Amino acid sequence: MNFEQFNLDPRILAGVSAAGYTTPTPIQQQAIPVVMAGKDILGLAQTGTGKTAAFALPILQRLLKGHTRKIRALIVAPTRELAEQIHQSFIEYGRNTKVRSLPIYGGVSKVNQVNELRRGVEVVVGCPGRLLDHIGDRTIDLSEIEVLVLDEADRMCDMGFLPDIRKLLSHLPKQRQTLFFSATMPEDIRQLSHDILTDPVTVQIGQIAPAHTVSHALYPVTDGLKNKLLFAMLEKTATGRVIVFTR
Ligand code: AMP
Repeated sequence: MNFEQFNLDPRILAGVSAAGYTTPTPIQQQAIPVVMAGKDILGLAQTGTGKTAAFALPILQRLLKGHTRKIRALIVAPTRELAEQIHQSFIEYGRNTKVRSLPIYGGVSKVNQVNELRRGVEVVVGCPGRLLDHIGDRTIDLSEIEVLVLDEADRMCDMGFLPDIRKLLSHLPKQRQTLFFSATMPEDIRQLSHDILTDPVTVQIGQIAPAHTVSHALYPVTDGLKNKLLFAMLEKTATGRVIVFTR
């Protein structure tokens, strides 16, 4: 398997090569053809699976055609760090294209964001609060959005962004492609996905479930006994290398 199979534009393939990717990750293999076909996606995958390229590459492909300097793709992420990371990925994969991406999050001046928005961009990667600020100020026009990505939807919900997301959705065109990513599916997230996706293709990456070969056990112990228990267990059961995760 390689990236050529997806029929991506050579300019995008060059960006993928420059990023050093040769083989698509499982989520990329599953999601890229579906996104390129214009379908909605319910993606059950964590960050670290290659999820960003799974949506960014087909979005870049779409944006090569059609009008420019209008916001056509909106990616909503829970934190500044993630928004910045996704924005950097768009820059990296789209380095040979003219597609422009703009990160929009709070904690930094609005003025630069407004200037960039005026100049015109095709991709906005933002956090819900600051996006709503710009909507309130009428400094952002989301009426031409063709693709919406909600990334780490469960985390956004944990952070209390659900009402903001619903408000944001009311400013987007109903006719659009929606890509919904979440590592877990609690009830409110399932409901949100049900409300906003149309006939979605579910893409699930196996790492969410522990490997079948991994057995689990829980030992409730007091703090003082933790080390003793760990050493006793290592002596009794461990072979080869061991990774111990702590808080
Ligand atoms: P993500 O889950 O999108 O945050 O990606 C996790 C990491 O995997 C990032 O550092 C990406 O640059 C990297 N990555 C994504 N796709 C590939 C690929 N096909 N081959 C190698 N690395 C990749």
